[in-house]
Amino acid sequence: MKINVLAVFPQILDSLHYGVTGTAIEKNILEIHRIDLKDYPLNSYGSIDDKPFSGSEGMVISPIPISKAMNLVKNKGKVIYLSPQGKTLNQKKVEELATLNDLTIICGRYEGIDQRIVDEYVDEEISIGDYVLSGGEIAATVLIDSIVRNLPGALGNKKSLTNDSFSDDRLKGHSYTRPRDFEGRKVPDELVSGNHELVKEWKIANSLWVTKQKRPDLFSNLQLSEKEMILLQKYELAQKNLRKGDG
Ligand code: SAM
Repeated sequence: MKINVLAVFPQILDSLHYGVTGTAIEKNILEIHRIDLKDYPLNSYGSIDDKPFSGSEGMVISPIPISKAMNLVKNKGKVIYLSPQGKTLNQKKVEELATLNDLTIICGRYEGIDQRIVDEYVDEEISIGDYVLSGGEIAATVLIDSIVRNLPGALGNKKSLTNDSFSDDRLKGHSYTRPRDFEGRKVPDELVSGNHELVKEWKIANSLWVTKQKRPDLFSNLQLSEKEMILLQKYELAQKNLRKGDG
């Protein structure tokens, strides 16, 4: 997948050279073309922003550097403007974007970008959450990282994708590693039982329980099978008994 990123501080995207995204770049699964808007200034002083016509405080990125840069991007694909005013990103959108060959991301700064750039080039505005960042570069890093996990060959183990939170509209649940006993806190018996069926059932029940506890909004939309309901009821009873035992 090829992703073009237009930004005032493209160096902020350097963190994509580590971990899963870094490996994807090395394996040519992902190609990032960073475009520094400061290379397309408005004037000989190197400005890229200007005062808003509304008279409000702050500066707006001028449409001129962005359009100059956009005109040089060959395969734009879908064009996204990262903005707190966009639709909130979720796993479904990430998976949809991961099917594209080309993507162009525009990152704002200051008070944002001139609306005419949005009107002329942008297919979709995406927000990474209901809060305001100082710039779109970190949001672009978040968006690209989440997309890359879904590109074929990017993850060593394909199963981690299908087992991850949100893959089945539920959370993944608890994870444990060695030692079996850490300062008196033990790994659940089922996970060390050596019985694959028991482990599988524990994972289903734990995932449902965690989703119910942490994200009741997601849980209320789940259509549970009869088996899942029974597993969850048993798990909840065991948790209650555990708490009683603690008390
Ligand atoms: N004045 C804008 C507003 O109130 O909607 C906020 C501008 S913000 C300080 C500067 C830039 O950061 C935005 O143009 C956008 O690219 C990026 N940004 C800020 N919050 C974001 C969010 N939640 N999701 C995605 N991008 C965000």
